[in-house]
Amino acid sequence: MPVITCARCGQTRDQMPFRPFQNELGLRAYQQICNACWGEWLKTQQQLINHYGLNLRDQQAKTFLFTHMEQFLFAGGGEGVKSKE
Ligand SMILES: [Zn+2]
Repeated sequence: MPVITCARCGQTRDQMPFRPFQNELGLRAYQQICNACWGEWLKTQQQLINHYGLNLRDQQAKTFLFTHMEQFLFAGGGEGVKSKE
């Protein structure tokens, strides 16, 4: 399994096994986010889906999740926020 230096946690870890989405964000996540952080996002995403009752066939719901995903993965959002130098 190839390793990457993760943009979220800063550690060199296993890459996620496949590109999750066929869009620009999916490619960026695949290239820059480790499998452990991706797993954390999937848990957070499920909480958001449950909390807001999202329907994933709904384009607005997808847009909402992509926005949160980008923040979670690349902007230090979500739980476990680390101080940014
Ligand atoms: Zn990571």
